[in-house]
Amino acid sequence: MSLIVQKYGGSSVADAESIKRVAKRIVETRKAGNEVVVAVSAMGDTTDELLDLAHEVAPIPVPREMDMLLSAGERISMALLAMAIESLGHDARSFTGSQAGMITDARHGAARIVDVTPVRLREALDEGAIVIVAGFQGFNRDTKDITTLGRGGSDTTAVALAAALDADICEIYTDVDGIFTADPRVVPKASKIDRITSEEMLELAANGAKVLYIRAVEYARRHGVTLHVRSSFNNNEGTIVYNPTEAESGTPSTTTERSEGAVEEPMIAGVATDLSEAKITVVGVPDIPGKAAQIFTIVAKTGANIDMIVQNVSAASTGLTDISFTLPKSEGQGVLTALRAEQDEVGFVGLQYDDQIGKLALVGAGMRTNAGVSAKLFTALFEAGINIEMISTSEIRISVVTRADTINDALRVVHTAFGLDAAEEAVVHAGTGR
Ligand code: ASP
Ligand code: MG
Repeated sequence: MSLIVQKYGGSSVADAESIKRVAKRIVETRKAGNEVVVAVSAMGDTTDELLDLAHEVAPIPVPREMDMLLSAGERISMALLAMAIESLGHDARSFTGSQAGMITDARHGAARIVDVTPVRLREALDEGAIVIVAGFQGFNRDTKDITTLGRGGSDTTAVALAAALDADICEIYTDVDGIFTADPRVVPKASKIDRITSEEMLELAANGAKVLYIRAVEYARRHGVTLHVRSSFNNNEGTIVYNPTEAESGTPSTTTERSEGAVEEPMIAGVATDLSEAKITVVGVPDIPGKAAQIFTIVAKTGANIDMIVQNVSAASTGLTDISFTLPKSEGQGVLTALRAEQDEVGFVGLQYDDQIGKLALVGAGMRTNAGVSAKLFTALFEAGINIEMISTSEIRISVVTRADTINDALRVVHTAFGLDAAEEAVVHAGTGR
């Protein structure tokens, strides 16, 4: 008997009809002879609505109460889903995060899973029940309080359950047919990817792809969980996210060209974009040793997450240089304030803040062995008249910063230039993309 973990996102359980449809699907999996554990998100945009509501009653809601509030969303969907399954004549039991043994640290709103003790889940499975677990939530042993894992945390719940219960596969059900070479909401000709390594998926997720949350991919990579990202609206095969070492030793379920090594791997896995970052430029920094260290020590103290960093060549006449870096917009003001406070100490001339930037990242493991990828990327952008403001690379990624209002055009031209366009338009089944 196989143990399958399934995760259903908010748009797959948005209303009573959808819940009944999902219930049928779960029952079919059970009937096929599998043990089934389901992690479920809150219905539709419930979490956003609860967040809005909280901000209507309090300008800065208390984190502990925020988690109490937000965890209610998943509690509603898990109970409704269990009821729907029961009415189809199958035994189903729902569990909150704490009942399921999802033990986290104490950080409200961004808790990390530190242990999973699924004793009650195992018991329910042994009694033949289908198990439904509230996604996105956990429990801290010291504070004895409910925590949440951060937005999109139900993916992480599912992966953690799959690892703890030693599941055969973790299926992530969503409103698109799998992982695409670009966001199909922006690039209708995006192609579905059959198989992608967890390393490539991490880069895509870290650079704005929303289909899977980065922490879930990290967890899956660390614990060797194979993911199958697929649509809850049809039975099509989706995308397998795998750890190559595993695939090479022949373990995972599906084998295709990407794992065999017989056929050449696609050079590029996909393109992601991100509009959530801003750029800070420290203007007129004395070009002497220790200045970058000073600046980024100040930045680090704010806890901000720096992404790209670029330092210009200094003008010989002034001995001054500019240093630019990108960071999440939400951290911009804090960093500006911290730098301003130390301006005299560091000795820079001024600060510029730009929140109208967009970032595009081209990702592919094949970059390691292929020359000319950057040239092709920059040429495509040039031909579309798009100016590049910053560039950074890793072994399997090239990122560029452009103006925010050109980012969707940039995405489309780069997608075409690398031959990623599909013959047919991708189907987006539901969801507001919120
Ligand atoms: N309901 C939570 C959210 O919207 C968790 C999730 O959907 O995964 O972020
Ligand atoms: Mg959601």
